[in-house]
Amino acid sequence: MKDPVCGMEVGEKGTLITHKGKQYRFCCATCSWAFEQNPEQFLKE
Ligand SMILES: [Zn+2]
Repeated sequence: MKDPVCGMEVGEKGTLITHKGKQYRFCCATCSWAFEQNPEQFLKE
C-alpha cells in the first residue's frame, strides 16, 4: 500500500487508518496525523 501523504510504499507495519470505509497505511505517525487533519487534501484522484 502507498502512503497517500508522502507517497512511500508502506508495508504491513504501517499505521492503518480507516477513512470513509477505505483503509490507508502511513509510514509514520506524522503522516497519519497530517492525513487526519485534512484527509481530502491527500485524496485527489
Ligand atoms: Zn509517510
